[in-house]
Amino acid sequence: MKTALIFNIQKFCVHDGPGIRTTVFFKGCPLKCQWCHNPESQNFSKQVLWTRERCTFCQRCEQACPQGAISVTQSSVLHHASRCLACEQCIDDCVNNAREIAGVEYTVSQLLSEIEKDRPFYDQSQGGVTLSGGEVMSQIEFAAELAQACKNRGITVAIDTCGYAPFSSFEKIMDSVDLFLYDIKLIDSSLHQRYTGADNKLILGNLKKLAQHKARINLRLPLIEGFNADDRNIRDIIDFVQDFQLVAVNLLPYHEFGKTKYNKMDENYQGEKLFPPSETRLNEIKTMFEQAEFNVRIGG
Ligand code: SF4
Ligand code: SF4
Repeated sequence: MKTALIFNIQKFCVHDGPGIRTTVFFKGCPLKCQWCHNPESQNFSKQVLWTRERCTFCQRCEQACPQGAISVTQSSVLHHASRCLACEQCIDDCVNNAREIAGVEYTVSQLLSEIEKDRPFYDQSQGGVTLSGGEVMSQIEFAAELAQACKNRGITVAIDTCGYAPFSSFEKIMDSVDLFLYDIKLIDSSLHQRYTGADNKLILGNLKKLAQHKARINLRLPLIEGFNADDRNIRDIIDFVQDFQLVAVNLLPYHEFGKTKYNKMDENYQGEKLFPPSETRLNEIKTMFEQAEFNVRIGG
């Protein structure tokens, strides 16, 4: 049976498309954006997370691990990821809930039953389900089946995507999708490569093709001062999308909500020197899009 690796199912979301939504987060992403606020979403495998504040350094996890993948000292718990088989034994044995797994396998029918629980909220608010990540298009066979099943049940589907996938993947799902929440960060390809780990030709090409197919698209711009909030990048983006019939443009100022997750993964947070644009600058950017006759909103 087909399964997908999911790292979160979030209920009552109001920033991931219209109305009240259930957002399903797929694990694994082909990009590695320096400002990522879901770092546990990037790896395509299950990962064990550790919360220092809950840990008493009791060594139970070290004793439980059949792989010798944990070393506990008086002040730290080292996780040797290359040895870990994600068996979750250490999680079961940690009485302080200091360890948790990121990534759970779901079948389509298991996800559908989660999604169905909130149907009254979708009906009242014209909401639905949003498939997000990570990158949902990286698990396209599963995502297309799930989206079709939602559509068959009268539940609307939004796809939150970075756009980095073959267009053939979009073709597999687009008939079941009511709205694409499409991220665009930078028009300059070499800067895109530097900050996300990949160039943007595929992303821009897919956006253009989706627009040509008359897909409904909300363009989403994560905005970081000093990275992509300058006049030149904003003008270039506007020039690129000028002829597209976008539903809306969402300006998403950078935030630090993902910072603690890096600690849980024992990874360095690269965002210490990242800041959102000022309110004045956000309003200037908003005005630039409005002057190009786009429907713009600050926030999701
Ligand atoms: S079992 Fe839990 S509390 Fe004990 S050392 Fe391991 S993570 Fe810390
Ligand atoms: S998940 Fe299993 S293999 Fe990985 S560290 Fe925990 S006990 Fe060891």
